[in-house]
Amino acid sequence: MSGALLEPAGQGRSGPAASVGSDAATGSVSGGPQVQLPTPFGTFTAQAWTDVATGAEHLSVSAPGEPLEAGVPGARPGSAVVPLVRLHSECLTGDVFGSYRCDCGEQLDYALELIHRRGGTLVYLRGHEGRGIGLANKMRAYSLQEAGADTVEANEQLGLPVDARDYAAAAGILHALGLTRIALLSNNPLKGQDLARHGIDVVEVVPAEVPARAENLRYLITKRDRMHHAIRVNEPMPAPAGQPEGPSS
Ligand SMILES: [Zn+2]
Repeated sequence: MSGALLEPAGQGRSGPAASVGSDAATGSVSGGPQVQLPTPFGTFTAQAWTDVATGAEHLSVSAPGEPLEAGVPGARPGSAVVPLVRLHSECLTGDVFGSYRCDCGEQLDYALELIHRRGGTLVYLRGHEGRGIGLANKMRAYSLQEAGADTVEANEQLGLPVDARDYAAAAGILHALGLTRIALLSNNPLKGQDLARHGIDVVEVVPAEVPARAENLRYLITKRDRMHHAIRVNEPMPAPAGQPEGPSS
């Protein structure tokens, strides 16, 4: 598709959609209108984005930061604090059903709460289910994990990449929003490296700390030890009695 079709957006400015890059091809994205999205974490400005190359539809939610209180810095315009950005990969089981097999749902809640308070943007990346292998394959991998494989081995047994995610579209969205100098809320060192290749200056990495649980302990340890995530794995919270897959609270 031609870049001439792009309908730009980004903090009220108009101009061509981002296709800027350094040594990597940054994804061309087309942004829709900005709307208000009231949530339990506060009201965000939401905007849908279409990846011109793949047709995948993503969502950004942004907040200016709450007024300074109790020494918590905000990142409002003019502030020296860089906006906090989270690239959140879609996870239906974790984000919607609150599954404790992974930590996605709790990371999403944590990120929305922190971004609303401090100011910044969460980009919700669809098509990233199961680190890019899709929902059905993720469930196949879960089945292999129940037979003893860890999260990396399960993907390998399925002949699938351990991590098939691509952040070109995310970088395109950040460029379109003017977010080229950011603090990245992530435990995954690859995300920051990938964004840097796409011309995003990650000046700070803020860890996304969520509690370890009996159900996700092995998953977190695998992410720490085999995928080099910067995670502190503490003593897990106990599983609810008789509920191997505890409900979200
Ligand atoms: Zn998940």
